[in-house]
Order: sequence, then structure tokens, then C-alpha cells
Amino acid sequence: MAVKEFQAESKRLLDMMVNSIYSQKEIFLRELISNASDAIDKMYYKSLTDDSISFDRDNFYIKITADQNNRLLKIEDTGIGMSEEELESNLGTIAKSGSLAFKKETEIKDGHDIIGQFGVGFYSAFMVADTVTVLTKSADSKEAFKWNSNGADGYTIEPADKKHTGTEVIIKLRENTEDENFDEFLDEHRIKTIIKKYSDFIRYPIKMDITVPKPKESTENEFEEIVEEQTVNSMVPIWRKNKSELKTEDYEAFYAEKHYGFDKPLKHLHLSVDGAVRYQAILFIPEQTPFDYYTKEFEKGLELYSNSVLIMEKSPDLLPDYFSFVKGMVDSEDLSLNISREMLQHDRQLQLIAKNIKNKIKNLLLSMVKDDRENYETFYRSFGRQLKFGVQMDFGAHKDDLKDLLLFYSSKEKKLVTLSEYISRMSENQNYIYYATGDSYDRIEKLPQTEMVLDKGYEILYLNEDIDEFAIKTLREYEGKEFKSVASGDLGFEEEEEKKSEKEEENNKELFEKMKDILGTRVKDVRASTRLKTHPVCLTAEGEVSIEMEKVLQSMPD
Ligand code: ADP
Ligand code: MG
Repeated sequence: MAVKEFQAESKRLLDMMVNSIYSQKEIFLRELISNASDAIDKMYYKSLTDDSISFDRDNFYIKITADQNNRLLKIEDTGIGMSEEELESNLGTIAKSGSLAFKKETEIKDGHDIIGQFGVGFYSAFMVADTVTVLTKSADSKEAFKWNSNGADGYTIEPADKKHTGTEVIIKLRENTEDENFDEFLDEHRIKTIIKKYSDFIRYPIKMDITVPKPKESTENEFEEIVEEQTVNSMVPIWRKNKSELKTEDYEAFYAEKHYGFDKPLKHLHLSVDGAVRYQAILFIPEQTPFDYYTKEFEKGLELYSNSVLIMEKSPDLLPDYFSFVKGMVDSEDLSLNISREMLQHDRQLQLIAKNIKNKIKNLLLSMVKDDRENYETFYRSFGRQLKFGVQMDFGAHKDDLKDLLLFYSSKEKKLVTLSEYISRMSENQNYIYYATGDSYDRIEKLPQTEMVLDKGYEILYLNEDIDEFAIKTLREYEGKEFKSVASGDLGFEEEEEKKSEKEEENNKELFEKMKDILGTRVKDVRASTRLKTHPVCLTAEGEVSIEMEKVLQSMPD
């Protein structure tokens, strides 16, 4: 039988698993149970569109069996199974291609980061296994196949015997070493604890044969051990549970189980809406920017369930682009199960849910701005840029939703502030919200143009990201106060000063003419200014486009 090599990226991930010193090896069970559950979901979904398959809930389950004598652990499901080709393509190559590419070599060697927080999937079995065998029969086929691998040397696939549709993953556990104990994964109580911890909400029963003591008949203190099949998980999806029963850790565990991100979420929102549209949702505000977030590759979206059955992994229509960082899921009874992608887009229910969710996210973020500033700033460092893009998007159509979520660095507070906080500090005779642009706060602070405004005691917002000024220009004003660049010709408080400079100009006419001659087309005009204190000269922009914006515009590809 020919031994096949794993595709290159799979091999890397596998090596990492085989050599893993990761302490929480137990998560391999979470991964395999999650695959089993996915496979049953697919079977259920198929039964809805295929009359030849009937979905009898009782026939769908996951069963975990430990065989102490042979050091075998079996994870069995009655899901959709795999054909020979699927075995080849699903287990020989990494589904989420590129998932490793973004990680630095050093991180891969350590492995800790990836294994702990990222969906490593099927290969995680190799953290505990000498060999892994997959026996499977596809719902579309009468033949069964066996996939076998010890990790390092590749894998084999051969025909096999299996009666029922579904999959068995059989793990031959490694022998214990001085430092590591693998026996624990044969201990039924330990296994039960792991399942409870990570997979409690899986919607299908996870069954186990558990040995329980039972009083012997007609005796009082004598017990015998009997084996009893138990369902170990509660099967209630977390979003159907009562909020009061759940702790932050439960939501964090769900976030990790679902592979929503590598990080710990900063905030979660558990919604149970029962109005014109009915739905449940769990939404997360991540802490860190996903590696591909600001690239074309990033796909936004929420998981979409209809009556607890997953119908779409990433429904983009549920999230506006400016909230594309939100992770999570939505479950609605009002959605039809076999609705197509195209139909979903125009589905009125879905549109209502999307609108509702948008407002909930906005309010959550607003409440963070107010009451949880530290976390909000962490969030803002990761995703503030996207909010500013949002202001600009669609010709400013969303600016009212976003304007109170923006933070800018304040000359006065020396930290990030909201526009409303700025306004609240404005003195009566201040007419504008002043801002200055530059590469860094330090450099902005030293700009000659800021001098006069600061001297007046006015606060200046320091904009150091290229997108900032575009966002400000789109906003135009906040609560009736217009934005004004400190570099603009008219700072709005110069009437009496202007007269002074006109006089200066008269007196120095010849000098200015000469300077204009020398500078030629590089300047539009040379004028006397009263806005400078310690600097001899400054450049100002005349029109709508500031010097900083001009730089950005010039650096843009055509
Ligand atoms: P993921 O679950 O994220 O797709 P995995 O590495 O966990 O990645 O699994 C790879 C693929 O192998 C799955 O997408 C699925 O197609 C297939 N697979 C794994 N386990 C099973 C199973 N028990 N039944 C059917 N297919 C499975
Ligand atoms: Mg998986």
C-alpha cells in the first residue's frame, strides 16, 4: 500500500503537534468532537434537501470509548462521513490554508500560541497519539475507507468495512514518559471532565460508557460495578442558556471553541430578542487585530443558525463594514433552513436582524467609551482605524453612528479624548475644533502652526494617522462646531491681528516681493503673520487640502 506524503503546510503543523510541549493537550478532544458535531450538522442539513435521508434525532450522536488495555481512545459519530477523495483532501491538506503562513518561525517552534488559541483541528490528535486511524463511510457511498497515519511518515488510505454512515477516529495513545502522562485520556472521569469543560453545549448527545457502583441486590453495603451509557453534555447551546447562568469564562471558552480569534475577547454581548424579529446572538469585541484584518483577504461575517442548526459560517450581510471586527453568531427561528445565499441577502428578516445588531454593537461600544475606557482604548488601538474608514465610507452616510466612537489625542489632556469631551472643554469665545496633523504627537507638538492656538489656551486634536484627516473632513462639524486645521490660513480669531499684519505687509512690501521672486512657484504668496511666537516662519495651506493631506494624496498610486 502506497504511503502518501502530507502537503507541505500540513507537515509543518503536524511536526508542531508531534513535538508539542503544550500543557493543555486535552484540547485535542474538543477539536475531534467539534468535527464530529459538524459532520452531524451536515447530515442534518442534507436530510432537509434530500428525501432519501431521514433525520431521526435519536440516531445522531457522538460516542467516546476508552480501551485501557490497548491504549485506544475512539471518537465515533453518525455524521456525514467522508469519501475516499474527501479523506485525501480533508486530512492530507490543511483546510484553512495560509493559517500558518502569518506566524513567525519562532512562534511555530514554540507552538504554544497557536495551539492554545487557534483552531488546530484534526491534527491536534497528534499531540497525544502514536497513530491515528480514521474509519469512515460517506452518506453518498456504499464503500468505507480507512485512513491511517503516525504523523511523521505520511498516511495511507485503504478500503475497509463499516456498516453505518459516519466516522470513527481511533487514537492510539502515546506511552507515558517521565514528564508526560497520556494515561489520563483513558480515564473515563477525566474524559468526562474535559467534555464538560469544552463541549458541553454541543447539540448532539456525547455518550460514554461510565462505570458506576451499584448496590448489590439484597445486600446493604456491598457494591458491584456496572457499566452504564450516559450522555455527558447538557446539549443546550450557550446562546439558548440564561445569561444569569453564564460566567465570562463560559463566553471565553465559546470564543476559543469556535476559533473566533487567537485572543481573549474584550467584551461580549448576549442577546435574546423577542420582538418584530426573533433571534439570539452572542457577539464579541476582539482584543487584537487579526493578522489579515486590514487586507483584502479578510472576510467579515457572523455565523448564522436557523433553529440551532448552522446554515452559514460567515454571513457578511449581518455586519456593516465598519463593524467588521465583530465576531460571533446569530440564531433565528424565523429564517428558513434551506435558504440560498442569494436569497438571504434580500431576506427581510435578516435585514431587520442586521439593523438591530448594528445598533446593539454601537451601544455596546458607546457604553465602553463611557464606562470602560481602558478596554475601549485597547479596542480602539486595534480597530479605531476601521471606524475612521467607516466615517468616510459611502460618502459619510454612517458618520452619525460613528462620530461618538472616535478618539483623538488631545494637546490638553495628553491622551485620547472623544469629540464630545473636547466640546465640553471649549471656552465661550472658541468657535472651532482645532486639529493639527503630522507623523507623531511629538512632531505635531513642535509645529509652529500650533503655537498660536495653544497660546490662546485652546485644545488641539493631534492627528497622526493618514486616515484621520479624511475622517475629520467627512465629519465637517461636531455639534455645530466646525473643524479647523491649525495650518489653515484663517484660524478664526484673527480679526484684530489681521489689521496688524496688513500694516506689516505695507511696511515690508519690497522684502516680500523679493522673497516671492526667489521662491517662485514653490509658494503662492508671502505674507506677514502674527500667529508666530518663537518661530520665524511657517507654511500654511490655503485651500481645502492641508499640507499633510497633500502628502497622502501624492503618495497614493494612480
Ligand atoms: P475544520 O474542522 O476547521 O474544517 P479540521 O482539521 O478539524 O478543520 O478538519 C478538516 C476536515 O476534515 C473537516 O473540514 C472535515 O471536512 C473533515 N473531517 C474531520 N473530521 C470529520 C468527521 N468526524 N466526519 C466528517 N468529516 C470530518
Ligand atoms: Mg475542526
